[in-house]
Amino acid sequence: VAGHPPSLGGTALSAEWFERAKKSLAGGISSSSRLTSTGPDPYPLYMSSGSGARIRDVDGNEYLDYLLSYGSAVLGHAHPALTEGLARVLASGTMFGTCNVPEVELAELIQELVPCAELVRFANSGSEAVQGAVRAARGATGRSRLLKFEGHYHGWTDSLAISNRPTPEEAGPYEAPRAVPHSPGIPAGVVDDVVVCPWNDPEALKAVFAAHPGEFAAAVCEPIVANNACGMPAPGFLELLRDLCTAERTVLIFDEVCTGFRTGQGGAQTLFGVRPDLAVFSKALGGGLPLAAFAGVREVMEPLASGQVKHGGTYNSSPLCATAGVITLRHLADPAVTGRIDATGRQIMETIRRAARDRRIPCAVQGVGAMFQVVFTPDGQPTRDYRDTFRLDRARYDAFRHELLLRGVHSNAYGLACWFVSAAVTDDELARTCEAIEESFAALV
Ligand code: PLP
Repeated sequence: VAGHPPSLGGTALSAEWFERAKKSLAGGISSSSRLTSTGPDPYPLYMSSGSGARIRDVDGNEYLDYLLSYGSAVLGHAHPALTEGLARVLASGTMFGTCNVPEVELAELIQELVPCAELVRFANSGSEAVQGAVRAARGATGRSRLLKFEGHYHGWTDSLAISNRPTPEEAGPYEAPRAVPHSPGIPAGVVDDVVVCPWNDPEALKAVFAAHPGEFAAAVCEPIVANNACGMPAPGFLELLRDLCTAERTVLIFDEVCTGFRTGQGGAQTLFGVRPDLAVFSKALGGGLPLAAFAGVREVMEPLASGQVKHGGTYNSSPLCATAGVITLRHLADPAVTGRIDATGRQIMETIRRAARDRRIPCAVQGVGAMFQVVFTPDGQPTRDYRDTFRLDRARYDAFRHELLLRGVHSNAYGLACWFVSAAVTDDELARTCEAIEESFAALV
């Protein structure tokens, strides 16, 4: 990639900014995952600009971006339609704390695209919107207990920051995992309200519902587990979860923060043909601005609509962010745009598979074109659940990602996260990505 140095030796300014940042920002960062996601160790890269599929760091190095602000910049960076549309809003006032027209247009677009979205509420981040969905489910059912799946991530707030990434020592028995708080500071009462189940195991799922009859307000999952190396649902598993939730009058929540509008117009629920009661969206929804939503069937959203269940937020669907959502969703509503994202990603996935096969390196590339991850499993099989990730060759992933970075390809540094693909990748940029992958595999052996 033009302007890129032969090694990451050319990132001295990032190192300097990090030293300076540590004196004012707690840990030098604004989000706990930022260091692990955006290293190279021992300092993160400081990005200063982006255009299309490329981003540039403060030292002037350019990268093809597949971190993509965790999938948010789905149309690419500084997309002209967004830049122009948002400039108009900036000039006419960004927020008034009142109702506004773009939020209505955006809610209508979501209703059109998402099967479960009979009613919509906006928020600013995925974590907030998950919290809103949990509140709605508890309010509608009058129950408080939640069912979640080991290794699934639903944001940093107390209610579901549990068993995201337990160590083998703390995780407990496979069939009945312990509920492990992700952080000190999460009260025991909150943890007691969460039951954890292994993912993709029909017998364990049936057993957990049988052990807690009529108890769960909601069962929450990532239908494609973006935060566990993009593991895919086993055939029939989402359907079983749907059936059990229906039988138990438990609200089924799909956390579509990563999959929403990215894996096709209607998100994972359309891709898999399973309709949840509630779904949570963020990332691609805002096209790079802080915007999130939870949306669902009338029965569950009604107590919120009537004002009985409370949910608020000064910044919810400001004209600035709602306009970003409208512009982004109008683009993503065109199947040619999501089709391009998917085709680009599939070519990258195939290139990784071929490069690994040629060098007899066991690995699986899992997910869909728009979001995927490479996992270096001992037998080259995809992961089924969180415990499978204990067997991954994480050092090899780190080395692969580092080789890619040296060649100007920027992806998540954390091996259990995933690659996100934008609509902005040109044929030439795709070819260069594939070349970098080939070279990186060659450097691994
Ligand atoms: N849910 C999923 C599936 C996510 O990947 C994330 C963030 O990565 C969240 C929820 C939380 O979103 P946010 O970081 O915007 O609070």
